Amino acid sequence: VLEDDGTLGVYVHVPFCERVCPYCDFPVVAARRLAPEREEAYLSALLAELEQRGAPLAGRRLATLYLGGGTPSLLRAESVARLLGAVRAAFGLPETAEVTLEANPGTTESTRLPAFRAAGVNRLSLGVQSFDDTVLRRLGRAHRGGHGRAALRAARATGFAELSLDLICAAPGQTRETLAADLEEALAFAPEHVSVYELGIEPGTPFALAARRGQLATPDEAECVRMLALVAERLAAAGLERYEISSWARPGHASRHNRRYWERRTVLGLGPGAWSLEAPSPDAPFGARRANPPLDAWQEALARGEPPAPASHEVLGEAVARGEAVFLALRTARGLDAARFAREFGAPPRGFYAAAIDELARAGLLEEAGGGDLRLTARGRLFADTVSAHFVN
Ligand code: SF4
Repeated sequence: VLEDDGTLGVYVHVPFCERVCPYCDFPVVAARRLAPEREEAYLSALLAELEQRGAPLAGRRLATLYLGGGTPSLLRAESVARLLGAVRAAFGLPETAEVTLEANPGTTESTRLPAFRAAGVNRLSLGVQSFDDTVLRRLGRAHRGGHGRAALRAARATGFAELSLDLICAAPGQTRETLAADLEEALAFAPEHVSVYELGIEPGTPFALAARRGQLATPDEAECVRMLALVAERLAAAGLERYEISSWARPGHASRHNRRYWERRTVLGLGPGAWSLEAPSPDAPFGARRANPPLDAWQEALARGEPPAPASHEVLGEAVARGEAVFLALRTARGLDAARFAREFGAPPRGFYAAAIDELARAGLLEEAGGGDLRLTARGRLFADTVSAHFVN
């Protein structure tokens, strides 16, 4: 049975972006400036969904609230304040809760940041990606390096104690030199947290089409490995700990919300396309995963006063949950806690995956500690998808 500590994380998907980047496969729509009526219709639907789907979860302790997207910083601060007020009314919003808002440079340097902070946001995550204008242009991003610097300065001036920024790796036009310069510029702002994502070419995106036509020059695999090594080395030298494959933080500043996904804790996902991980119940001892429908269907149902029908709802079977428990935990530096695994599934990982563990250990991708805990090696972190495939049912 899935372990349940009685806490709750809430994720709110804000589906609007200034423009849709050609590599993005998130559920987003372009809204150059978010018209007040459109924002109001979205917010009303969101508050209705919170009321409907939050009610059965009342009594849980709210640990994290995460406004992601999309570009949540396109919302006016009054909207964010209303949303936080509704979350407070539904679950209480303890002082200790981590409240993150994702922001894109260019939508944030203005006067909004102090108002977001006053509304109760205590952690800002900035989608900087790069400070290099060539890289940003080729990624089709709406902002430039100067916007990234200005947003970081504004975030620091506003006094956010928790500042995170996202950088991209292996983008078209990026070199080890531009990446090194990005890291130096980022570190100059002494962020508490840095995420570095390798550019993925997702099916159905304009980048996937360009790649098929041979029109997308991204660094090759060997160069990607060198770039990721550079990232790991430089961030470690700056005192940031790599606590997950793509995430670095100063000690004590890891993202508590993201950790919920790797630990498979209950998350209520609100908004179009948002994913929820439902708590275990007698009918679903390993929990269930639910995806919300896209914007129009989601908003129309809620405007009629009806709950939006999920786009998918999967009660997790034991074998699926077991495989996920392994590969999600392996993303983290802590790795898989064999004792927790045994409490949930009745036997330690070796009881189910002895052949895979031995094969991956022989290949130098996985380490097994005395108590059966499992962890990726440095090499394993480069090939995490290959390792995961051994545990997927
Ligand atoms: S800003 Fe982010 S979420 Fe929005 S389109 Fe670009 S990559 Fe996607």
